[in-house]
Amino acid sequence: MNLTEIDLTGIPEFVKNPRQRIQEMIQNHDIKGLMEKAAELHGHLCSFVTLGLRAGVMAMNKLGEEAVDGMERVICIIECNNCFSDGIQLTTGCTFGNNALIFRDLGKNSFTLLNREKKKAFRVTVRPDALEKISKLQKRAYPEAEELFQKVVTKRQGTPEEGQVLKNLFLRVSYDLLSLPEEEFFTLQEVTIEPEKSAPIFQSHICQLCGEKIMETRARLKEEKIVCIPCAKDRFFQLDGSGISQKCID
Ligand SMILES: [Zn+2]
Ligand SMILES: [Zn+2]
Repeated sequence: MNLTEIDLTGIPEFVKNPRQRIQEMIQNHDIKGLMEKAAELHGHLCSFVTLGLRAGVMAMNKLGEEAVDGMERVICIIECNNCFSDGIQLTTGCTFGNNALIFRDLGKNSFTLLNREKKKAFRVTVRPDALEKISKLQKRAYPEAEELFQKVVTKRQGTPEEGQVLKNLFLRVSYDLLSLPEEEFFTLQEVTIEPEKSAPIFQSHICQLCGEKIMETRARLKEEKIVCIPCAKDRFFQLDGSGISQKCID
């Protein structure tokens, strides 16, 4: 069959160019529109996902990006894994799954967006006083919020009702933040960096103990058998709320 004649009947028009709506929102600085999309991905709206969206919009427009397609032409190097990074993934289209998102475990609310072809890159960082500004805004409007936050989030002792109240508060503050200009929250600078290599394609093996398929570089040799890391009881890296650390499944 001729590949140029692939029949796309029955496939929604939208998925043929799925980033178009988001791209238009980015170009129009439609943060509220992006917040609806981010809420679907992130599960809630909060100040840091909103900051991520605004920072992502800034960097994308600065880079002059028009058609991000998740094919590693535009790469994002992110330095944190938190609510902020979901705002960045949504706006830049660089995700964990499409290998356009590179995670550096630096614990900073910062990212660098680069276009490999243009060899252009911008680094955006959340200003150190941004959190203070958000909490000032929050304290002024909702003085009892701090105590509730401590109870529900820090001590994890809140009731489901208190959890919902806090979610509503996060929602309110996320929208309230939109009244403050970008410069209050971020610094953006053009940087020169070496583009990272494209994601390589590796061969696979079948673990001779559990029968699951494994990427070649994660295969281990145990008693002359090719096995996976858990079957070899070897150490591996795990990314979680504490960043990257080495683990071992016993
Ligand atoms: Zn969040
Ligand atoms: Zn195995």
